[in-house]
Amino acid sequence: MNGKELAEGLGRIRQTKSLTDYPLLIFTVCVVVFFVLKKLNLEAWFKPIYQLSFVLAILGFIMLFVQESIKCPNCGKKFNVKINGYSFVRNLFSRKCMNCGLKLDGSNIEEYHNDL
Ligand SMILES: [Zn+2]
Repeated sequence: MNGKELAEGLGRIRQTKSLTDYPLLIFTVCVVVFFVLKKLNLEAWFKPIYQLSFVLAILGFIMLFVQESIKCPNCGKKFNVKINGYSFVRNLFSRKCMNCGLKLDGSNIEEYHNDL
């Protein structure tokens, strides 16, 4: 595995992560907007906001499974999940590999790539 391949692998992981982070962010905004609209008695807007947040919640749920299956380009283990004997640590917002420590932004790629 050389540095370029590692960087490409990390790029794909970043794309998947943003597909999870943004819907989650918009969902949070929707919830806030919903309460604001409720306070202002703007009931005409309830339905579209409710529908949008419903779609985002489903999307987020699917993405949780996708996130869990992401493999690290360096060590080949799950990027977001660390299994160590009986302990099982999951961090779907992790910015580095839970197993080998390769950073998502590629800033420590030099320590990992192997051009042999
Ligand atoms: Zn790794």
